[in-house]
Amino acid sequence: LVHPRRVAAVIGGRQHDLYAAAGPAGIAPETARVVSSTNPARLSDVVAEVVLDGAEAIVAAAAAARAAQREWADVPAPVRGEVVGAFGRLVEDNAETLARLVTREVGKPLAEARGEVREIIDTCALFRGEGRRPHGQTVPSEMPDRELFTYREPLGVVMVITAGNFPVAVPSWYLVPALLTGNAVVWKPAEYAAACAAALMDLLTAAGVPPGVANLVLADGPATSLGLERALDAGLVDKVGFTGSTAVGRFVGALCGRHLQSPCLELGGKNPMVVAPDADLDAAVAAALFAGFGTAGQRCTSLGTVIAHESVHDAFRRRLAAAVSGAVLGDPTRDVLYGPLLDARFAAGFEDYLACVRDHHEPFGSTALGRIGPASPRRGFVGDPEPGLYYHPVVVDRVRPDDELFTAETFGPIVGLTTYRHLEEAVELANLPGYGLSSSIFTGDPVTVRRFRRGVRAGMVSVNTSTSGAEAHLPFGGNGRSGNGARQSGQWVLDQVTRWQSLTWELSGRLQKAQLDVSV
Ligand code: NAP
Repeated sequence: LVHPRRVAAVIGGRQHDLYAAAGPAGIAPETARVVSSTNPARLSDVVAEVVLDGAEAIVAAAAAARAAQREWADVPAPVRGEVVGAFGRLVEDNAETLARLVTREVGKPLAEARGEVREIIDTCALFRGEGRRPHGQTVPSEMPDRELFTYREPLGVVMVITAGNFPVAVPSWYLVPALLTGNAVVWKPAEYAAACAAALMDLLTAAGVPPGVANLVLADGPATSLGLERALDAGLVDKVGFTGSTAVGRFVGALCGRHLQSPCLELGGKNPMVVAPDADLDAAVAAALFAGFGTAGQRCTSLGTVIAHESVHDAFRRRLAAAVSGAVLGDPTRDVLYGPLLDARFAAGFEDYLACVRDHHEPFGSTALGRIGPASPRRGFVGDPEPGLYYHPVVVDRVRPDDELFTAETFGPIVGLTTYRHLEEAVELANLPGYGLSSSIFTGDPVTVRRFRRGVRAGMVSVNTSTSGAEAHLPFGGNGRSGNGARQSGQWVLDQVTRWQSLTWELSGRLQKAQLDVSV
């Protein structure tokens, strides 16, 4: 894996550097422009120059995908599975390089980046085998001498739009099953994670995915929405997989709805953790620390609010405060709980929530608020905070249901704490923000677990462990403001990238009419 300084779209197997083709002076800014993707741990470190295209590149990529898809769908599924297997092996061979690129471009600790890369390998292992599994059923007919079958058919062209907090694993959750089942794809990653995307694209190509079957487009949000709309209007996109914020997901959902399509929407979360009176508090604190502050709180499954029973609130609060104060932060290439925020735009968004804390709340555990630097140092910080986007961790006690901190996804190193008296109240508080991605409960009581699982509206429930952390073969997805009920991973994602076709085969040689000719 060679990491290029300049990354550009790959459409129909060819680099699509319009900007370079026309020369820096000869290109209209709305057609293409170049931005820098920088290392959030050291902003002066330019990871890549990124050529951002306009809407027309998305249409061109969708057309290239359309042209290539039929032939790819005709490749036998087990052979497509071998290509997926080769991709997984290439990712494994290049795992350390890819993980280091993830850390450098989005700032997540190297251990997490390695885990992220491992998730791609696991996904490929699963879907390589899926190419050899039955993808249809034989169904008994109510008529004699008649056969009924079902087939899973690819959708055609799948447009994948992804956030950058999991810049390689989450895209692979779409790309691998979509390709395995005979679709062609157009992938639009987050612009601040473009180098990771280009690396993954190189590995797909090297694995034998034919030109045009996988396409990469780099564009900003407005160009993406315009290009997607045009591609949908032109009938060039059959499915959209979108992972990102609830606001943009709402917009993408409306656009797809106008074209009678149901996208796969994987959106934000405000994930609760309930700490019951009988909880193992040390385990709950360890999980809260990891879930709330891993990836600097910038996971869709990050812990939003701890809902602690009032009998354990003080003890939990004390232990969490100690754990947060003692956590090691800093250089993400070292052994730290978290490094910098992903990108300047997330730092700006996080600052807005800090204003909320300053105005209304008393943080505890770590008294400093805001950016870590010479004026606001962090004890035990590893490395130099000044050139990076490093923020102090924040825990805010007694958040109330009408607080923005209670209802909004804050997407940064901040955790709220509140209390409950009865389980029903805990469930109500867990559901109140209206998201429904992940949730967790700490208790030893099976009845409490059962009631919580049945009451909480989250797509994912954890017992005695963190809200974050996913395995490649368990359904992943949310409800409400977290998504439209679509599920990724495992066998469940197949419903997102294929549709069922039924076949009725009359063998009797005469017209047999269902219902009408049946004598019971
Ligand atoms: P975002 O602003 O919604 O961006 C996500 C992707 O959509 C990016 O590629 C972005 O491009 C693109 N985009 C932006 N505006 C668009 C538009 N109008 N039309 C089409 N595409 C558009 O999300 P974010 O703030 O970067 O990412 C964080 C969010 O993603 C959080 O809410 C997090 O919880 C969620 N997330 C969810 C999951 C999940 O599986 N449920 C996983 C990871 C993250 P640019 O970046 O180039 O603007």
